[in-house]
Amino acid sequence: MIGLADCNSFYASCEKLFRPDLRGRPVVVLSNNDGCIVALSAEAKALGIRRGEPYFRCRTQLERGHVAVFSSNYTLYQDMSDRTVEILRSLACDVQPYSIDESFFSLPGGTDPETYAGRLYNTLKRRTGLTISVGIARTRTLAKVANHMAKHTRGWMVLREEDERAVLASTAVSEVWGVGWRYQATLVSLGLKTALDLACMDERRLQRFPVTFRRTVAELNGVACIESLPDVRRSFISGISFSVPKTSLAQIMQTLSCHCRNLSSKMARRNLAASEVFVQLGTDRFAEDYRLLECSAALPRASNYAPDLLAAVKPALEAVFVPGLRYKNSRVGVFGLCPLECRQWSLFDDESRIEAARKRDTMAALVGQRGDLRTLTDSFGDKRRICRSEFLSPCYTTRWSDIPGAG
Ligand SMILES: [Mg+2]
Repeated sequence: MIGLADCNSFYASCEKLFRPDLRGRPVVVLSNNDGCIVALSAEAKALGIRRGEPYFRCRTQLERGHVAVFSSNYTLYQDMSDRTVEILRSLACDVQPYSIDESFFSLPGGTDPETYAGRLYNTLKRRTGLTISVGIARTRTLAKVANHMAKHTRGWMVLREEDERAVLASTAVSEVWGVGWRYQATLVSLGLKTALDLACMDERRLQRFPVTFRRTVAELNGVACIESLPDVRRSFISGISFSVPKTSLAQIMQTLSCHCRNLSSKMARRNLAASEVFVQLGTDRFAEDYRLLECSAALPRASNYAPDLLAAVKPALEAVFVPGLRYKNSRVGVFGLCPLECRQWSLFDDESRIEAARKRDTMAALVGQRGDLRTLTDSFGDKRRICRSEFLSPCYTTRWSDIPGAG
């Protein structure tokens, strides 16, 4: 059997965790730069507030509903996610994080799924303070369905083979994991409304769909075919929208250094290095003379060290920058990711160069682990300072000065 542990309203729950005064109160979390709503607590959902809505448009509604508003605090969310995965690893087998708030796992041998699911739910709640639903079934896709049901019942759910058909008959096709909006119109036109309709889909019809979709259908029928999740990312992107347009090369360069620092930490935490960077600048996309400028550049050798990334980004920016434009956003992407230990050295990389690169890996790893260790990248911009984050909560679990006191 395969399990899925998924935290309910994750970002909003993390914000509530250290604020007992917010118990029962609606909470929303805003995107980077306080742009739009990215997460809501159940109480906020009940008020009819929707995800994706721009903050400025629903401000009055939020005030009227006494909604607590937070800027996104990814340091807090990532740390709570890491803690949860660590606890899960001590209780389950073969734990595979799927997103910041979801992990698949296998059940330890010889356990009764019902007893295990209940115990896991309670232990996770006690040790993290978060409500984490547990769904268990024969395949990952069915475990997703079970998890969805668990959220609306007592918090855990074991979907047994004999109950699968009945449950799928009451699950809308749009709720099935892997059936994206791309397929929805097609499925509706074929008259397939429920997950059970999908599971019973005619073999000949099915052949017209891509293999990933056919796997989803097989999984609904209890055939596990999504064995492992791709855990090596192919790219990371960091972006900022500016509230006041930027015009000079130096100003833009400062924002790109934020991205490099940010991407360096992301890669270092996962032991990855990039071989290519990508720079993108955009003007106001609602204006008639909208411009999007892009350029990519290769690194001399794969790295995750922020100064190495910046050295590649700089000429790319100079190549693409057009003076006189009013830039509204900048993005940097890293591509060609590989695990650090699989990095290719060039013909000219002698012992001393390899040694120096390894030292830079260590420094990047240190900065990645300790966000407050800034000496190495002090001249780099700080994304948190450039982005508007008016309602940022403290880093309760990762910064000494922010640890909440008792009493
Ligand atoms: Mg979730």
